[in-house]
Amino acid sequence: MTPEQIADLRRQRYNATVAGIRLANSDLMCLRVQPDFPMPAHKPGQYTSLGLGNWEPRLAGCQEEHLKPEEEAKLTRRAYSISCPLLGEDGQLVPDASRNGWLEFYIVLVRDSGKEKPPALTPRLFNLREGDRLNMVEKITGHFTLDPVKPGDAVVFLSTGTGEAPHNYMLWDLLRRGHDGPILSACCVRYKKDLAYLAIHEELMKRYPHYKYLSLTTREADTVQHKVYIQDLISSGQLAERLGRPLDPKTTHVYLCGNPKMIGVPIKDKETGQRHYPQPLGVIEILEKLGFQVDNPTVKLHGNVHFEEYW
Ligand SMILES: Cc1cc2nc3c(=O)[nH]c(=O)nc-3n(C[C@H](O)[C@H](O)[C@H](O)COP(=O)(O)OP(=O)(O)OC[C@H]3O[C@@H](n4cnc5c(N)ncnc54)[C@H](O)[C@@H]3O)c2cc1C
Repeated sequence: MTPEQIADLRRQRYNATVAGIRLANSDLMCLRVQPDFPMPAHKPGQYTSLGLGNWEPRLAGCQEEHLKPEEEAKLTRRAYSISCPLLGEDGQLVPDASRNGWLEFYIVLVRDSGKEKPPALTPRLFNLREGDRLNMVEKITGHFTLDPVKPGDAVVFLSTGTGEAPHNYMLWDLLRRGHDGPILSACCVRYKKDLAYLAIHEELMKRYPHYKYLSLTTREADTVQHKVYIQDLISSGQLAERLGRPLDPKTTHVYLCGNPKMIGVPIKDKETGQRHYPQPLGVIEILEKLGFQVDNPTVKLHGNVHFEEYW
């Protein structure tokens, strides 16, 4: 494609600008995107899609891609939960998470999909610089919200990696509106450097005694021998202990986001209608055995376990 064709496609397809980038490490970023259109109405926990043209360059060191000529002028879009900076430059809880005209996204670089089809978007997103243009879908959507939470309820956010993004936005909302029940957010990653919001959560814990943040690392030298996954946190009783009250299904909402293996959504057998829990053991199986009930969006069943799978 010629530089003129590329400039034309960018003009036609892009409707947003990179307002800021914070790299936590080379493969993990907080990306602020300012749309050209008025900020769409949305709820904390929801997602939209970001896109870049296949004509954009890919970051070096990622799985190779071989595009057919007819694919080169296409746009690749992926869903991203909206995150939240939580604290502003003045060190205070941000008064309105989208007031500045941008939304924050928390994105990890997928260097290799582990499949034949290489990752399409993130190797391009990680080439972006402040001021660059991209595509953002106008509609912000999703059922992963705080709607079912009542005053005084305990709210537990459990995530892997960037699955923390929607939890950060929901946490901001709970703190902003003075939610009076205990709130706990736990995130499982390989290394401490994979926790872009750690310092912010530590600061929030000092200010809000009813808020706890637990970081679980599985590859750090001091934890590698005794890895604690989200599943272990619940089974061992540590989660209830840190929350300061038992995991009572009547007064607790649990939000799960990220790796489908951590979440463990039961699979329904098409012939018998029976539900089977996947292996390895996921959080939904553990919670259902404690009396919790998972949401089932297809039959509009609202439980007290809510989930968002990233792939
Ligand atoms: C509702 C929703 C919200 C999402 N929000 C976020 C978010 O806030 N932050 C974020 O980083 N991602 C998020 N994702 C995942 C995102 O949509 C993309 O799948 C991801 O960025 C990879 O895109 P890609 O084009 O580079 O790779 P793709 O071409 O989409 O290939 C992805 C493949 O790589 C593998 N893979 C390995 N690690 C990951 C990973 N961390 N995420 C996805 N796939 C992985 C999987 O096998 C997957 O099938 C969300 C997904 C959904 C459905």
